[in-house]
Amino acid sequence: MNPAMSKRAQKDQQISVAADPKQWSEQSKRSVAYHFKREYVDEPYKCSRCSVACTFTAQDQKYTFEIKKASKDQRRKFCSTCWSESNRMRATLSEYDLRWTAEKSSLRANREFLTEWLELFMRWKQFAPYKHDIAKIAMVRCLLKLG
Ligand SMILES: [Zn+2]
Repeated sequence: MNPAMSKRAQKDQQISVAADPKQWSEQSKRSVAYHFKREYVDEPYKCSRCSVACTFTAQDQKYTFEIKKASKDQRRKFCSTCWSESNRMRATLSEYDLRWTAEKSSLRANREFLTEWLELFMRWKQFAPYKHDIAKIAMVRCLLKLG
């Protein structure tokens, strides 16, 4: 099969869903796409953590942009498993943060807490390599005397 044909065949298989940009968020309505977006088409992507092949389906896009009112520039990064895992981790990290803020003086010497916190930070790096808190990690390492 020649590549042009297979590409066309692929396109025929893609499912599209009619777009209604009037339902977008106010911010998205100010974009150029607002004036020409007619349909959503399944978008393939690769999970940035586990590399599994995924699809941001047309139906999902409609829900994301028109019901949840997410920015129309939003793209999927993770598969559903990694996505749930990242949400769980973000929640756990903020619990640790709150605990730290409330009980700093006693937690400074709590190696168990500090070790767990550091492990959490290290795992979080797999999800958000550019969004981890360098200053806090350095502080925890220092309290654990890891240099
Ligand atoms: Zn994944």
